[in-house]
Amino acid sequence: MNLSESKTALVLAPHPDDGEFSCGATLKKLSENACQIYYAAFSPCEKSLPSGFAKDSLFKELTRAVHILGIPETNILTFQYPVRSFPDHRQEILEDLIKLKKQIQPDLVFLPNSNDIHQDHEVINREGMRAFKHCRMLGYELPWNNFTFTNSCHVVLKKSHIMAKMKALEAYKSQAFRNYHNEEFFFGLAKTRGIQIGEDYAEAFECIRWIF
Ligand SMILES: [Zn+2]
Repeated sequence: MNLSESKTALVLAPHPDDGEFSCGATLKKLSENACQIYYAAFSPCEKSLPSGFAKDSLFKELTRAVHILGIPETNILTFQYPVRSFPDHRQEILEDLIKLKKQIQPDLVFLPNSNDIHQDHEVINREGMRAFKHCRMLGYELPWNNFTFTNSCHVVLKKSHIMAKMKALEAYKSQAFRNYHNEEFFFGLAKTRGIQIGEDYAEAFECIRWIF
């Protein structure tokens, strides 16, 4: 299957903004190709919010962000696991993932890559691989969580896709303080991944499973 032939994709985001940071431009490209994209976010990350922000700020920001990428609000699925505590909830998370698989039946799943060291991302990677082992899976890149990253799959992108990703990230006002929340960084990374394959821009993924 060519990526552009994907009809139903599912993004597994431990925290609301992980999908935009890692594969926002690819999601924009998929939505332009009439792919139905579902976005599952596993934590409201209440403990990661700066003071002055309401407890549900990140889920509200998520709704605005994914709308820019062409994902309707009805395709957002949220869970209430506490941030940095996913290892204490492995089995419940696996059961939720299995329900998502039956409910959505995606032909493509985006999830954290296998070398991501964040404890919540590690759980979504491992349990995601268990739940979706019969499905195509791409592990997305968040460089600040990786010592190594296998960039074995690249999605060719246009500048407009990267611009849409940046616009989506702007919706996350509560996370603007993070040093990686930076336009120069994301354009530089997209350019780096593009140059690796002789194109202008790309996002890179670990090919966890592909089925022809
Ligand atoms: Zn995260």
